[in-house]
Amino acid sequence: MARRRQIYEGKAKILFEGPEPGTLVQYFKDDASAFHAQKKGTITGKGVLNNRISEYLMTRLGEIGIPTHFIRRLNMREQLVREVEIIPLEIVVRNVAAGSLASRLGIPEGTRLPRSIIEYYYKNDALQNPMVSEEHITAFGWAATHDLDDMVQLTLRVNDFLTGLFLGVGISLVDFKLEFGRLYDNDEMRIVVADEISPDNCRLWDMRPVIDRGDGQPVAEPGPMADVYTELARRLGVLPSNVTHSPKPTLIN
Ligand code: ADP
Ligand code: MG
Repeated sequence: MARRRQIYEGKAKILFEGPEPGTLVQYFKDDASAFHAQKKGTITGKGVLNNRISEYLMTRLGEIGIPTHFIRRLNMREQLVREVEIIPLEIVVRNVAAGSLASRLGIPEGTRLPRSIIEYYYKNDALQNPMVSEEHITAFGWAATHDLDDMVQLTLRVNDFLTGLFLGVGISLVDFKLEFGRLYDNDEMRIVVADEISPDNCRLWDMRPVIDRGDGQPVAEPGPMADVYTELARRLGVLPSNVTHSPKPTLIN
């Protein structure tokens, strides 16, 4: 069989030409993504887990009518997606203060935000994905106002849905990033969720009551999750039975 044509290699995935026109194969690597700067190098089995997690979440989103690029999973590390024209923006939603929001604005980490806050970043590694405003986005033609409106509406729906889904398995969705693409069907253009939804672009805190302040009353105190890839896959019920690398999940705090 002829070798597939590689289209792009990024930090977390390799894209290959798909079997039919308009499709791509996403191969999930074990390389740590820049989103989690603290996790340099590779994380054995991460690609296998992210492939499953993203498959699961994109499928659930599709079921509630949110359009995504996902078609089907092909094997342990690959999934088939629709090729889209990526909009060069990272749309971030925050529910709880953490990371750069906490440090830039002096909001204590862990503060629940009065409402979900959306931020835009220009997707450009050489510039380290700078934060931009709607003005920059429309002035430089990265997206039209109505495209941006669509992306914000979709992002808020995804946020509500994922917040509930994760809460159901004891996880707080602190913040996450989405990428969108344009999909052309004949004369129509639709904006769909692309890329991946996995712990590489979601900040997830464990809600399980793990703290005992000495009064015998364990309290739920959300905190970072140990071995988040395995633990999320396990709680969503998509942990492949042959993934054995991971240590037993340990509780932090
Ligand atoms: P990066 O290091 O640029 O984040 P990744 O390792 O995440 O790259 O590889 C995925 C790349 O493929 C990203 O640049 C993403 O924008 C792009 N991409 C994701 N889904 C699609 C799609 N359906 N069609 C075309 N490009 C896509
Ligand atoms: Mg990426």
